[in-house]
Amino acid sequence: CGVFGIYGHPEAANLTYLGLYALQHRGQESCGIVASDGVSLRAYRKNGLVADAFRNNEVFDKLPGQNAIGHVRYSTAGGNDPKNIQPIMVDYVRGSIAVAHNGNLVNAQELRNELEQLGSIFSTVADTEVIMHLLARAQSDSLADRVVDALKRVRGAYSLVFLTETRMVAVRDPNGFRPLILGKLDGAYVVASETCALDLIEAEFVRELDPGEMIVVDKDGLHSYHPLEEAKPSPCIFEYVYFARPDSTIFGREVYGVRKEYGRQLAREYPVDADVVVAIPDSGVPAAIGYAEESGIPFELGLIRNHYVGRTFIEPQQSIRHFGVKIKLNPVREVIEGKRVVVIDDSIVRGTTARKIIKMIRNAGAKEVHVRISSPPTSYPCYYGIDTPTRTELIASTHTIEEINRYVTSDSLGYLSEEGLHKATGSCEGGSCEGQFCTACFSGNYPVKFPRLKADKQLG
Ligand code: 5GP
Ligand code: SF4
Ligand code: MG
Repeated sequence: CGVFGIYGHPEAANLTYLGLYALQHRGQESCGIVASDGVSLRAYRKNGLVADAFRNNEVFDKLPGQNAIGHVRYSTAGGNDPKNIQPIMVDYVRGSIAVAHNGNLVNAQELRNELEQLGSIFSTVADTEVIMHLLARAQSDSLADRVVDALKRVRGAYSLVFLTETRMVAVRDPNGFRPLILGKLDGAYVVASETCALDLIEAEFVRELDPGEMIVVDKDGLHSYHPLEEAKPSPCIFEYVYFARPDSTIFGREVYGVRKEYGRQLAREYPVDADVVVAIPDSGVPAAIGYAEESGIPFELGLIRNHYVGRTFIEPQQSIRHFGVKIKLNPVREVIEGKRVVVIDDSIVRGTTARKIIKMIRNAGAKEVHVRISSPPTSYPCYYGIDTPTRTELIASTHTIEEINRYVTSDSLGYLSEEGLHKATGSCEGGSCEGQFCTACFSGNYPVKFPRLKADKQLG
């Protein structure tokens, strides 16, 4: 998911809309904005893409005020039931509050059971709603303290932006799984999942929130706290591999450069005699450029993407996904015919994309097809907010690399090593590379334990 917030700007809802537009890659399922005019909160939430949901200009007349938060949702569980669209907004004894959440809580079900025993009635299946119930029950006087009371009970991944009538609160979990950036525009404070959202609205980059940091913005300005129990930070390395936009800077590094370095490192680890390097667009492009530079094999646009199709992985049904690859990509025959082709992608999840594309490339006359993946095998599900399928559906968890090579019908297959991933990320400075990032989907080392290892993915 993607989150955005702005406090103290006359164009708050409009700017939030633009921010969400820039964060669209983080979730296409649904989107929403909640605005505050200092007295009350108003929401507009809808299924679908930002451009479609906010097509009607009159929407913005219904979102007055100088403060607003927004969310783009990447559905895991809960399908496209409109009840689950964020920001969630509730009224409780102390007023109204809305929240936008990126991440996934690992103990949401436990807490939910406990709260239901105490009489809470939940209206969504989202883990985020648990936070709202905890907050409503918290006894502390200040909003900041109530947020902290609630967050002390939850575990997992959260970059959160809250909005009340008069305040905006932003928090990053102590592990810092998901990014959260602070910016400034015409004196107004802005928070966003990625810097590309600040760029679009021409906000100045101030800094990233620290893991475990909470900021409260009100009429007196910005206050920063570190109220949560400290943990060893473990930002999500998969943000670099795939999820974030390459023009963003997160966790202190430019995503584009890191991604390109993955390609260079991959070329060192798995060189091959070939005539052309081709990326599976868009996610494979920066790594393919890196691979081409390092190997000296020319990079060409061998697959052309239809830009009016969303990220295929997001499509909910297997049948649509199969079809999706063809809707989305078509080979350029003159680049491929008679050539030994290196095909670069960022990851293989089920193996569907790679298998379909290799078939396409062979049909376009390729002599050989060598697949290179700019991350290690995805063998474990993510419980921290990236929608990976269950373990049994991850091809790398049940197949060897040679078996995957046969399944996707490549002539050879090479994955970036875990060590190479760390090295290329630049996380090996000052001793051990281990543990500076979360790499659980590759390594199985989960930095935050969850109650029980479920076969099924958690809600969120
Ligand atoms: P597959 O077809 O193997 O199931 O999926 C691989 C493709 O899905 C890659 O091209 C990758 O860029 C894309 N992808 C989209 N969303 C995700 C995601 O959330 N996780 C992973 N691992 N890959 C994703
Ligand atoms: Fe990121 Fe993978 Fe860790 Fe999930 S398991 S937070 S995708 S590195
Ligand atoms: Mg892709």
